[in-house]
Amino acid sequence: MVAPRLGVALCAALSISLMTHLPVNAVVLTEQQLKVKEADQKFAAIKQKFLVAVWQNDADLALFAGKFTHADKLAVPDQASRDNYLKFAESWLQQLQQVDATQLSAREQTDLVLMQNYLKSNRWYLSEFREYEWNPSQYNVAGGFDSILSTEFAPKAVRIKLAIKRLQAVPAYYQAARANLKDPTLEHTRLALRQLPGVLGVFDNLASQAAEIKLASSEQTALNQNLQQARQAVSEYQALLKQWEEKLQNGKPRSFRIGKDLYEGKFKADIQSDLSAEAAYQKALAAKEANLQNMDKLADQLWSKVMGEQAKPADRLQKIAQVIAKLSEQHVAAKDFVSEIRKQIPQLEKWVKDKDLLTIDSKKPLVVRETPVYQRGVAGASIEAPGVFRPNDKTYYNVTPLEDEAGGNAEQIESTLREYNHWVLQILNIHEAIPGHYTQLQHANRSPSIIKALFGNGAMIEGWAVYSERMMMESGYGGNTPEMWLMYYKWNLRAICNTILDYSVHVLNMSEAEAKDLLMNQAFQTKAEADGKWNRVQYTSVQLSSYFSGYADIMDLRESYKQQVGDRFKLKDFHEQFLSYGSAPVGQIKNLMLGQDKK
Ligand code: ZN
Ligand code: ZN
Repeated sequence: MVAPRLGVALCAALSISLMTHLPVNAVVLTEQQLKVKEADQKFAAIKQKFLVAVWQNDADLALFAGKFTHADKLAVPDQASRDNYLKFAESWLQQLQQVDATQLSAREQTDLVLMQNYLKSNRWYLSEFREYEWNPSQYNVAGGFDSILSTEFAPKAVRIKLAIKRLQAVPAYYQAARANLKDPTLEHTRLALRQLPGVLGVFDNLASQAAEIKLASSEQTALNQNLQQARQAVSEYQALLKQWEEKLQNGKPRSFRIGKDLYEGKFKADIQSDLSAEAAYQKALAAKEANLQNMDKLADQLWSKVMGEQAKPADRLQKIAQVIAKLSEQHVAAKDFVSEIRKQIPQLEKWVKDKDLLTIDSKKPLVVRETPVYQRGVAGASIEAPGVFRPNDKTYYNVTPLEDEAGGNAEQIESTLREYNHWVLQILNIHEAIPGHYTQLQHANRSPSIIKALFGNGAMIEGWAVYSERMMMESGYGGNTPEMWLMYYKWNLRAICNTILDYSVHVLNMSEAEAKDLLMNQAFQTKAEADGKWNRVQYTSVQLSSYFSGYADIMDLRESYKQQVGDRFKLKDFHEQFLSYGSAPVGQIKNLMLGQDKK
């Protein structure tokens, strides 16, 4: 997981981002270079205008980016606001169409494509996906209030006053929500009902924080009144959802499964792969079988060493499962979990350098730390990176101490330790840190662009992390032992099965029992993990596909690149060039690297 820390750094540094990125040491420019420079400069002005329009039209994105200028106004998700957004998207798509991409530098071409993708994707979400009609859980004002209260972009008193103003629109917000909902799914209705008490909790938090500062009596009156109306609006929404729940339970509600057409559309909007979703799914099925065949051989090879005299099951899945279970007993003690991770980071860095796999900037070391308490509960391990405009800030590798994550439950701690056993812990560190997420971000920050920071492609980011695991294995990291490879294939199977699960559930009607069988019996996952995935696949779509899709696209690109450069192929060159475009979609990087232009 990557949690970009965009924070306030973004707005303060806006002007820096809009500088063009030309080599400063260019002495004499050729005519062609001059043309590119001129085109880039013109484009920089367009980008500046574009971003101003984005902040005005996309309030959620602005808050996410740490842009609190309009935080006092809560955007009401009504038909008028959707119409406005579509007009904004159309008009900008037309303006961007007039930019001659062939005249721009590669870096600016990437930004142009990302801007177009952002607009096209949101247009598709509003006009085709229409989640606002069927997902009651998307109406949740907690996040906005929470980030205003917890982000220190201004003195507390200022932020509280912004929040008080923001409360005014809560009734209109939930009125719009009620008008929008046409055919909610039962699953998303229940999810919303589970989450709504959290919204009231955030209001309580606002009230108690306001009590700590001195409000004028007129302000206190306004707060009380706004709070009362906001709570009322949430309760009414809650009551409506309870009615829906009753009705949906006894009727034939819209399915949470989005179906083939919407799945393909969403896959195109989010993943931006050359492949269709169905082709990616087929590829995942083949990859699963290939992994299992390899694991079968490795289990045979390891059997007597690991299992001794024990009889070997004829069934390959049972055989593999038993070897994995036995090997998983080798893990660190719970108290050593964080320190073991800390110890491995320099080892990974040294390996990448010794093998000349890619550049790592040692001047910006990764700091491994225990996840700050207020951030715990989301992911066991994650990279927390500084905003693109604060490249000298520290990047943290947050690791939640095990005693805390499992709430001290010995059985759960043991299960997590077995999952992140001696071998898998190393692969986790590759994925999160070196040369996975952390290294990729380091390279992306070398060409800072607010566009790339805002619209970075998730499949590229996760795909790179998954690719880096494979690449490290190929380089011999972990000793090339059968144990390491067996655990690698198990881990890789997780990414593959994310794609299979997501597509099967949303398009092919896979049942819960079939899903659990896939994850637990054919991919060796624990029950807790499989339960979590089943929850996730009901509420989300396509995101689970991004890991394998991005990975498969990068593997294909490496192959094509190899063929193109022939004898001159050098792995490091491939990596450096691939990472130099920022977090652009792999398909776009492919065009730039192979010199193909599909236009
Ligand atoms: Zn990841
Ligand atoms: Zn144990």
